[in-house]
Amino acid sequence: MNRPGSLIPMQSIWVIVFILATVLTAVAHPVPAEQHDRREKEKPVSQAHPEVLVYDVIIDVGHGGIDGGASAANILEKQLNLEIGAALYQELHKKGYKVGITRLHDYALSDDSPFTHIQSRHRKDLAQRKLIADELRPKLFISIHMNMSSSSSARGPMILYQDRAESYLLADLLQTELNKLAQTRRQGKMTDYYFLLKHVTSPTIIAEVGYLSHPTERARLQDPHFQTQTAQKMAEAIDHFFMLYP
Ligand SMILES: [Zn+2]
Repeated sequence: MNRPGSLIPMQSIWVIVFILATVLTAVAHPVPAEQHDRREKEKPVSQAHPEVLVYDVIIDVGHGGIDGGASAANILEKQLNLEIGAALYQELHKKGYKVGITRLHDYALSDDSPFTHIQSRHRKDLAQRKLIADELRPKLFISIHMNMSSSSSARGPMILYQDRAESYLLADLLQTELNKLAQTRRQGKMTDYYFLLKHVTSPTIIAEVGYLSHPTERARLQDPHFQTQTAQKMAEAIDHFFMLYP
């Protein structure tokens, strides 16, 4: 589940600290050499050694720490977001993409926030996610969430997207692939209601992967095999996107 928020300014000293942390993270998670070579050869020489690290995808894992997100039958959204986000990281990394992820453990991103003037923990959390997107400027920013409904029959994926071509295309490709897996015919939805869709500059989508409120779907979302299949379908959609928008 997502909640809306509003735009918050940045503090420069923390930006520098964050850039240093980003460089260290990039060194810790290098692109596999043979795949890196393949991708480098496809680029013009002038772009083969960019001075700035260019991320293809940043995976934003929703909620974390004190913020469990939606919950049903003692299952917390933050945990499923993390498991599926980590699986997607692995799939994209294997394909040779330069990929980052906003968290790999159970903690609140608001704890890292430099925005001491912001009182709301939720707004600090969202501001921190936007800060990561602003600093890394990925080609795609994909936020992973689970859905919730008062109707116990609601099920299937729903991709939320921005009013721009790249975001719509990615959402449509993801929606199609995840519908195949869930055997649903759900539609994505354009909206600027959510903070990240409204304020992140990179093409951004929010993937509500499935409904925690649907008992069968909830069980499926916890299944590691289904989580891997979901990540593979998402990675295929991302492949397709980069064929159209290299
Ligand atoms: Zn959520």
